[in-house]
Amino acid sequence: MSWDLEYDMVIAGSGVGALTAALAANDAGLSVVVFEKSRLIGGASAITNGEVWIPYNSVELEEGFKDSESLAEKYFSALSGGLPVYAQVRRSWLQASRSAIIYLKERAGLRWRVIKGLPDVLYGSTDSALSEGRYLEVEPFDGSVLGSKFEKIQKSLLVPYGITNEEMLKLPSARAYDRANAGKKLCQGPGLMAYLIYAAFKRKIEIFCGHKLVRLIKANHKVAGAIIKERNGEIKVKARHALLLSIGGYGWHPKYSLLYEHLPEWHCLLPPTIEGDSLLGASDVGAAYIPYKVVGGRPGYTVPGEVWFGKPVYRSLINEAGYPHSIIVNSSGKRFADESNFQQLADRSGSFDRSRGFTNYPFFFIFDEQYRRKYHLGPIGPGEPFPSGLVTSSGTDDGLARKLGIPPSSLTETITNFNVFARKGIDPEFGRGTKAWSRAFSGDPHNRPNPNLGTIDTPPFYGIRLTYVGAGYNAGYMVDVEARVLNVSGKPIASLCACGNCVSFFDVGPIYQDGISLAKSMGLGYLAARNATRSAGKQFHEF
Ligand SMILES: Cc1cc2nc3c(=O)[nH]c(=O)nc-3n(C[C@H](O)[C@H](O)[C@H](O)COP(=O)(O)OP(=O)(O)OC[C@H]3O[C@@H](n4cnc5c(N)ncnc54)[C@H](O)[C@@H]3O)c2cc1C
Repeated sequence: MSWDLEYDMVIAGSGVGALTAALAANDAGLSVVVFEKSRLIGGASAITNGEVWIPYNSVELEEGFKDSESLAEKYFSALSGGLPVYAQVRRSWLQASRSAIIYLKERAGLRWRVIKGLPDVLYGSTDSALSEGRYLEVEPFDGSVLGSKFEKIQKSLLVPYGITNEEMLKLPSARAYDRANAGKKLCQGPGLMAYLIYAAFKRKIEIFCGHKLVRLIKANHKVAGAIIKERNGEIKVKARHALLLSIGGYGWHPKYSLLYEHLPEWHCLLPPTIEGDSLLGASDVGAAYIPYKVVGGRPGYTVPGEVWFGKPVYRSLINEAGYPHSIIVNSSGKRFADESNFQQLADRSGSFDRSRGFTNYPFFFIFDEQYRRKYHLGPIGPGEPFPSGLVTSSGTDDGLARKLGIPPSSLTETITNFNVFARKGIDPEFGRGTKAWSRAFSGDPHNRPNPNLGTIDTPPFYGIRLTYVGAGYNAGYMVDVEARVLNVSGKPIASLCACGNCVSFFDVGPIYQDGISLAKSMGLGYLAARNATRSAGKQFHEF
């Protein structure tokens, strides 16, 4: 077979796992190439909050937090919810992610720190959870060192990357308007990716943007390379020792996303270049692509006119749903979940009854003028006008209900009851504001007595008809302890590795721990680099 290009390791996608693998393999002496479909580098990883959640990591220990391997094991057991999981695989990438943290600090200049004030998602429900320590983020990156290449980095429309997570936790409404002032300062996901991209540039690792992996080539019972499509046609690229897929999940795929989410409508929060190419990659070589439900579609919306890559930007209400002076109701005008708890909200938004269908769908975000003055709604800062077509408003709550098609007396009753709860600071119906994670992540620390509860009694009243949104976690490849992709018989496909959202959560379980995606992607990417290095007969330095 003739090839246009040849490398020891070929990587598709340029998110956190992909670039961790590229750096580690390069440093071990392998020739490495990265093909990225988008015109920008950084993937969905660069639009995130950049929270990397790793229990018993070196940074938390250095900063004086107490943690242990046995606590970590117990916590993962809680995340599994009692379901059988492939714990060996999880242990393997977890250990690798700890090593990757050290490697990236020592060799690639990443400056890590613990996000103070952010507890584990299950803090308060299990004693293996910590109140802080396991979440890491990077110190701000000075983007001016990138020169004109600064423009090549994917930035986030969804997070205010000019401030760190820790700063953001203290200033909820800052999330909206900070972005305009970010300049060249990169924090959160964009910051994390900027460190990695800068390190890759310094090493002169080739990163080809606008290059899409379209097919895997198998020869001699292994994945030998791939066909890459670029502007001028297709090229055949040989992967001498490994091919790493880090190309996201089903994302924007119009049909498979609905099937894997099992919802009547669903929209992807990630950049539109993630459109299910991993499914095609799988079918080429017989890889298993399995459904595994982690987080259901959660309430979200799109701001009219906001587009990226020619498609609408979808936003989740992950913070906003927990802010005071707001609730989410179904079409009967009833609340159905603790709005500040994104897992419960996601589960119950998608509640399905065999005789009645989706019992809480459609659903609506309801808030008042106090909310509008104090908090942001996605990109719209406190007090700023709403763009036309985003919200429905009325001077009365029953008037709002009529406009939204909700029974007016029911919505009025829900709001009246909620206001009693808000004044007391206790929500006897759903326990809003009782979870430490919710208080920290989606509460207003200045709101007393409960950071997630505030009355809805100041006109005008506002409503938005919501849709389901998500990152698309509910299906993916199965991998082994070395990040090798498994075929439908459970055997590794020689030379093919995977990391990131294209890998299923079969090894963790159905309860989503925020920050685990980046950690797992990084750990699997690191394992893939180690595996490729060993296949090449070279030494991989362990950290
Ligand atoms: C607002 C928001 C905040 C989040 N915050 C966090 C957080 O703080 N921590 C966390 O752990 N998770 C977070 N997530 C979850 C997030 O989805 C994942 O952590 C992240 O996407 C993982 O990235 P990845 O490794 O799968 O690769 P990605 O970063 O998704 O990269 C995949 C890349 O592959 C490219 N690609 C696709 N198809 C091809 C192809 N055929 N050929 C070549 N390239 C291709 C894409 O263009 C993309 O650049 C957040 C999600 C959202 C929406």
